[in-house]
Amino acid sequence: MIEKNSSLKAFNSFSIDAEAHLLFHFTDLSQHAELLALIKKTKEESRPILVLGGGSNTLFCDDFDGLVIKVELMGIKHTETSEYHLLEVAAGEDWHQLVEQTVEQGINGLENLALIPGVVGAAPVQNIGAYGVELKDFCVQVDYIDLIDGSAHSLTNEQCKFAYRDSIFKGELKDRVLITSVSLKLPKQWQAHCQYGLLQGLNETEESVSALQIFDSVCRIRTEKLPDPKVLGNAGSFFKNPIVSEYLSEQLLSHHSDMPHYPQQDGNVKLAAGWLIDQCGLKGHKIGGAAVHLQQALVLINEDGRATADDVIQLAWFVREQVLQKFAVLLEHEVRFIDAQGETDLLQVIDNV
Ligand SMILES: Cc1cc2nc3c(=O)[nH]c(=O)nc-3n(C[C@H](O)[C@H](O)[C@H](O)COP(=O)(O)OP(=O)(O)OC[C@H]3O[C@@H](n4cnc5c(N)ncnc54)[C@H](O)[C@@H]3O)c2cc1C
Repeated sequence: MIEKNSSLKAFNSFSIDAEAHLLFHFTDLSQHAELLALIKKTKEESRPILVLGGGSNTLFCDDFDGLVIKVELMGIKHTETSEYHLLEVAAGEDWHQLVEQTVEQGINGLENLALIPGVVGAAPVQNIGAYGVELKDFCVQVDYIDLIDGSAHSLTNEQCKFAYRDSIFKGELKDRVLITSVSLKLPKQWQAHCQYGLLQGLNETEESVSALQIFDSVCRIRTEKLPDPKVLGNAGSFFKNPIVSEYLSEQLLSHHSDMPHYPQQDGNVKLAAGWLIDQCGLKGHKIGGAAVHLQQALVLINEDGRATADDVIQLAWFVREQVLQKFAVLLEHEVRFIDAQGETDLLQVIDNV
């Protein structure tokens, strides 16, 4: 189905009012030819193309002047061997529902990734992660359509170049792919992961903790900590946790001994962006209808449902500047900024507001 000048407010979790020149609902692979014709026409008109999932990691900074392809492909194929469960999941399936269904069926492994909004096709793009587990731990294959020539391809885990909130889909293949399905391999020999954050309270031995308990704990913790986008517009963690040199980390620790810090294998140190923002006294800080969430400083919210993209952009800039001044740490946004012509970033859009 194709819609013209269609509102995207219902299709982004920030609930920002923006329009797409054209919106195509890609619900079935049999629409392949129609899709390719639309892509060709859009390119001939020199308009941009955006692939959209649930819109929970996207900030529309402006109306989108091209074709938005909303991926709504559905279906889950489950096979198994003596050692593994194998799931081939269509890109439009809801991520959290997948996690819930698998845990209910005794297919364990995804429980730490419960309540991450969005659809399965977006999960490899930023290698979603939470509570010590990332998509890359289970993803064995990503199938996609090349948006340049319409050909179909598959990538292995290694070829996806997964890293912290990163993958080939944000690098070499950026703006080039429409992911159609993601294949996951979940070992039947299940291993609990409770070493991270508030899950530390759970006992890590399989005898005493179940995947369902972890799932329930993750859902409870996330519900307490994070605003529900259906109630309060937001895109989850707005900024990435910054990775700084050991030298800078030690300098900061000499003034802030309670600063959370996580040494990395390469010698650098990961800091908690939320803590840095909180230390600047920014919880509750507002610009227009946008605010820093009172419970979780890493989340920017559309407080009254009427925040404009400019409100969010100005607030993000203010937060970035305050953290830079106080800690000499540069925050990068995790949320993807989309303007009329495609992906952009905070530095580029701040001059226009
Ligand atoms: C309350 C809240 C909590 C969150 N918590 C976490 C968390 O703990 N960990 C985490 O990693 N993330 C988290 N997020 C961010 C977000 O949920 C994830 O990034 C999620 O994967 C986005 O899915 P989406 O379908 O909404 O993606 P969208 O916002 O629609 O798209 C995100 C990017 O993926 C691309 N994309 C989407 N679908 C496809 C496709 N089929 N093919 C090619 N490209 C595609 C888009 O072009 C865009 O660049 C949170 C967000 C919210 C609102």
